[in-house]
Order: sequence, then structure tokens, then C-alpha cells
Amino acid sequence: MATATKTKKPVGQFSTGGLNRPLKMVKMIQARCNECNPKGQGPRGWWDDCPHEPYFSMVPAGPPKPKFEEQEDGTFTQVGEEVGKYVKRPNWKQIADDVKVSSGRMVKIQQERGSKYPQELGYPAICDYFNCWETNPKIHAQRVITHEDVQTVVGNYHTRDEAAIATLRLRGVPIYLGTASSYGEGASDIERRRAQLDEVNI
Ligand SMILES: [Zn+2]
Ligand SMILES: [Zn+2]
Repeated sequence: MATATKTKKPVGQFSTGGLNRPLKMVKMIQARCNECNPKGQGPRGWWDDCPHEPYFSMVPAGPPKPKFEEQEDGTFTQVGEEVGKYVKRPNWKQIADDVKVSSGRMVKIQQERGSKYPQELGYPAICDYFNCWETNPKIHAQRVITHEDVQTVVGNYHTRDEAAIATLRLRGVPIYLGTASSYGEGASDIERRRAQLDEVNI
């Protein structure tokens, strides 16, 4: 243990961002249609009149499979590709809800472009944590954080730790990395991070 910490270069006490201190990311479904909204120049509210299911896209169900035909000598020749199967998927997009991104206006901007919350389109709510797509998050952190004159609701998360991290992040508070290496005689960084997250009132 002791030798490992000696050879490891400390990366600093706090995380500066990244996965360890991610932005709150609201999951939305975007409106897209090349016919009704060509080059993003459609009239305001075009999505209400679009008859082309603007909230869904057809995506390949898998890579197209080659089609083979057996020859007289027992070998096979490729004769084309199997008709590709497609599935209809909502246009999921995670939107940063943080004062550092468009002064905290990103969700509003998306709504002004027709994006909807999953619940508006009959889908379950999704966790607000970066890259987390858990449905029906149970932790409803309704606290409003004011940071740099922007108010942000902490949000809905599927674990308490996620809500705690988001709370600290929205306050602009550095968060302990929680790396295995320890600094000096005190608690390890993992313990510091644990204590820091446990102290947060959700
Ligand atoms: Zn359309
Ligand atoms: Zn989550």
C-alpha cells in the first residue's frame, strides 16, 4: 500500500469536472423533420403541424446482413444484402442544465425548438444524471440552487449520491475525487468524498 502511494502521482484533491463531477443532464426528445423544418428554418411551432412523426427516427435494427446463394459446386456467392430492418426510436437527447452552458438556458432553448420531456410523449421520466438513462428516478430533489444569478432545480435522480453530486455541482462546490490514494495522515480521499456526499441535504 505504502509503496503504491509513493509511486502514484497525486492528481489533486478535487475533481475539476468530467465524470466525477458531471453536469445535470435533462433527458428530452427532440423534434426533427427535414421537410417541415429545413435547415432548422421552420416557422415557430412547426412541430405541432408536422405530419411526419417529428419525435421519432427510423434507425437500423442492426447491420445489414449479406445474402448468399448456394452454387452448383457447393460454394456460396453473395447475391446482395438482406433488406435492412429498422426500428422507430424517439430522438433522445441529453441537455445540459447548468449555468456554465448557455447561462442555464439550454433546456428552455430546446423547448423553444420543440423538444419535449419524455413524460409529454408518454414515456417514463428519466434520471437527470449525466449519461444515466434509468427510468422513474425515485429521488426528487426539488431544492432550488442559485449560482451566478441562475436558479436551477437539483432534479430527479435514481440514487441519493447522484442527487448529492448534482447539488454540489450546481453550487459550484469542488467535489473530492474519491481516488484510492490518500494524502498525508488524514482520511483517504474515498472517505472524504463519502463524508462530503453524506453531508448534503437532498
Ligand atoms: Zn414534418
Ligand atoms: Zn441515475
